[in-house]
Amino acid sequence: MTACHGATSPARSARKYPNRAIVLRMARLHAACIRPGHQPAGGILQANLLDNCFYKNYNGVSMTQQSNSYIPSYLNAEDPGPWGIFLQQVDRVEPYLGELGKWVGTLKHPEKILVVDVPVRLDDGSIAHFEGYRVQHSLNCGPGKGGIRYHQDVTLSEVMALSAWMSIKTAVVGLPYGGAKGGIRFNPRDYSKSEVERITRRYINEISDFIGVEKDIPGPDVNTNAQTMAWMMDTYSMNAGKDCPGIVTGKPIAIGGSLGRVEATGRGVFIVGAAAAQDAGLDLCGARICIQGFGNVGSTAARLFTEAGARVIAVQDHTGSVYNPDGLQIDALIEHVAAHGGVAGKPNVQNISNDEFWEVQSDILIPAALEGQIHQGNAGRIRTRIIVEGANGPTTPEADDILANSGIIIVPDVLANAGGVTVSYFEWVQNSANFYWSEEEINQRLETIMDNAYKTLSATASEHRVTLRTAAFITACTRILQVRELRGLYP
Ligand code: NAD
Repeated sequence: MTACHGATSPARSARKYPNRAIVLRMARLHAACIRPGHQPAGGILQANLLDNCFYKNYNGVSMTQQSNSYIPSYLNAEDPGPWGIFLQQVDRVEPYLGELGKWVGTLKHPEKILVVDVPVRLDDGSIAHFEGYRVQHSLNCGPGKGGIRYHQDVTLSEVMALSAWMSIKTAVVGLPYGGAKGGIRFNPRDYSKSEVERITRRYINEISDFIGVEKDIPGPDVNTNAQTMAWMMDTYSMNAGKDCPGIVTGKPIAIGGSLGRVEATGRGVFIVGAAAAQDAGLDLCGARICIQGFGNVGSTAARLFTEAGARVIAVQDHTGSVYNPDGLQIDALIEHVAAHGGVAGKPNVQNISNDEFWEVQSDILIPAALEGQIHQGNAGRIRTRIIVEGANGPTTPEADDILANSGIIIVPDVLANAGGVTVSYFEWVQNSANFYWSEEEINQRLETIMDNAYKTLSATASEHRVTLRTAAFITACTRILQVRELRGLYP
């Protein structure tokens, strides 16, 4: 197997990097733990950095004026990457925090960072070293919660920001969790299944003191799945000498996964999309829906909106865009995608170009594919009433401004796709109780949580005359800092 960017030469890396570096309270992170050239890069960084971005021209204040003092010594102060963006997002909501503002530094310092070396024997007998991270941004409101990402471009700055955005997401829906995130800097596609398993197991072994069923619970993220979670759960349990299903979520059902988890994110998109439609006086019956991305999130949302009487008139995926003004047959489209790998080639529909997709007039548009898909280049051509962000970070800040000026309502990703982490929470609760709920029960509880969260954001947005995205940050930061104040500082 060819080594990817994440792998370093065995001899060199073994000398150069400590086996493990636990960093408590940021200041104790030793600069030597971070490999030179490990500063923020492009690529996957985009995956979430646009989540609720306000960084562009934020109040006309540059990074160096506002947040520079919060850039830790081991990030590049000139270009701190996603972590710098998160800091500016917090700056932006600070005026809304009132007295709680005195605690804002809590949000601007991740609580704990762990950087680990992951040495693994490859199939050809050579040894490769990978860089792994786990960051706990805030443990105020409960154990850390957040996925583990496998990608060659993952950086510490990115994982710090992603962990902070998990704090925001869990606080938006009121889950008793803090925010955390992890990652390994490698491309799993460059390695065999057994190599990926060994990388996964060694990584979990290295972070096993740091995580815990009541401390920090990982889950899947980019390039990790139910199988990865099964290996993680098994490794942790072997080390603990007992079965610990609650150590990760997103597991296969057979080892403690939750019913309803697969559909949870798309279902959440539907619940908040329906609530936003009702607020906007839009009748779902006959409403026109366009969806980009027809995978887990997009296809589930399509099915649920169709069941509610709406017409899904256009769908785009990586293979092309299909259109039917009378409404696409969603079950048939799901079958076609399962058989052919994408929507392209579907009979009895009109094929439109990917560019034309963005111009289709609709009532609700659901980006459920990738980050940064709605940008300066296409935002002005979008003709819809409500955008429900199923994907993480699908709207660039420039596009956000354009859409807001056009009066388009955006239900932000930190709320719209929070159904996934909500049912992950249910999985963890069921694992703790060793008692499993019916799918109906899970869906009902999900609906209650998503509905309440939408109502809260909507009320906050009206009160402060801000967008739902800003309202999400105000709500989440207030919740986290209220807990901070109640708990006080130790000692
Ligand atoms: P998926 O892999 O099941 O589906 C992705 C879809 O996007 C596919 O239909 C694919 O064809 C399409 N796509 C990929 N590249 C595209 C391109 N260039 N143009 C148009 N379409 C493209 O993924 P998913 O689980 O449905 O996740 C979709 C989004 O939702 C991601 O941003 C993910 O981070 C976010 N999200 C997912 C969950 C979850 O529980 N699955 C939770 C929170 C957020």
